Amino acid sequence: MQQKPWKQLTEAVLDIFYPRRCPFCDRVIQPDAGVCEDCRKRIPYVREPVCKKCGKPLSDERTEYCIDCNRRKHLFTAGRAVFSYQGMVRESLYRFKYANRREYAMFYAEEAAVAYGGWIARMGVQAIVPIPLHKKRKQKRGYNQAEVFAKALAKRVHIPVQSRILRRVVNTRPQKALGNSERKKNMKNAFISAENMVHLDRILLVDDIYTTGTTVDAAAEALRDAGVKEIYVLCVSIGGDA
Ligand SMILES: [Zn+2]
Ligand SMILES: [Zn+2]
Repeated sequence: MQQKPWKQLTEAVLDIFYPRRCPFCDRVIQPDAGVCEDCRKRIPYVREPVCKKCGKPLSDERTEYCIDCNRRKHLFTAGRAVFSYQGMVRESLYRFKYANRREYAMFYAEEAAVAYGGWIARMGVQAIVPIPLHKKRKQKRGYNQAEVFAKALAKRVHIPVQSRILRRVVNTRPQKALGNSERKKNMKNAFISAENMVHLDRILLVDDIYTTGTTVDAAAEALRDAGVKEIYVLCVSIGGDA
């Protein structure tokens, strides 16, 4: 697609002030490289076999579901993720979230579209909804990393982002320090869904990291209350076989 001249200019100016960096080692790279050559060889992609429900890599290919999905019912239809949450991916996502490396979203979205663009189309997804941050946390951080990813993905798969349909009404404690049942309690009623104005039936929830699914389940519950029928999940990364 031919870009508008003003857009090319803004992007050129942005490249000078914010040079493109490798999302994994943070070295400055060519604007259209996406990732540096060294890191490209080491990217831990999620590969088959994966859990049929959440998309987590499975160590035993004879099983259909991961331990976590065998144990409990999720409220989303199916989930997938691009990278395995380890080493270089973990560091990359940390900078994306806390060090203002919003530009990494372009690479994450590119990879997500290559791996799951077909899947998203087959599922008939009508809108992309990022997991929202509570407004206090968003104010403090300056941006919602899931929303930045959602917007970058939307451009590549040509599906609109609908951020307003979901709101985070409780400023929850970070999940990573909590055990399973505490996570659930922490997330209870954390989200509400605004009126489903456009009557969406099938949406794609996106987030940066999927661990046990407690967050997306809480969000999915609110969306179901608003009449959404099928909720798919796509995360930049996912934790190992739990
Ligand atoms: Zn690199
Ligand atoms: Zn699973």
